[in-house]
Amino acid sequence: MNNPDCIFCKIVAGLIPARKAWEDADVLAFHDIKPVAPVHVLVIPKKHITTLYDATPGDEAVLGRMLGLAPRLARELGAADGFRAIVNTGRVGQQEVQHIHLHVIGGPHPLGRMLARQDS
Ligand code: 5GP
Ligand code: ZN
Repeated sequence: MNNPDCIFCKIVAGLIPARKAWEDADVLAFHDIKPVAPVHVLVIPKKHITTLYDATPGDEAVLGRMLGLAPRLARELGAADGFRAIVNTGRVGQQEVQHIHLHVIGGPHPLGRMLARQDS
């Protein structure tokens, strides 16, 4: 396994169950355990990469594939009229799971604002 302490590596290895939405040699997508909208899947590289900061130029192909998969999954799962793709990164981005994941979030109704505007 990539990283035995990583929950998403355990999902890749089949040690923790997940409801899969897509799988190929390099990428896995599965439904978020605590969805914030009717469609909420996480698209991850099978390779353990901790954060976007840690991705190297060699990882750009798999990151591109993850992004390319997002609209296809969104459409198939019921978000055919828009969705949001988010990669929370690091402390400020409040990344909870330390394995890169692309949230694909949507459904039939418009989502709330992305973030509240800060007073300046
Ligand atoms: P983050 O805050 O790191 O961007 O998002 C982590 C996401 O992973 C959260 O939305 C959380 O619900 C989801 N998550 C955490 N553990 C598990 C798990 O074991 N299975 C699944 N399917 N999702 C998980
Ligand atoms: Zn991992």
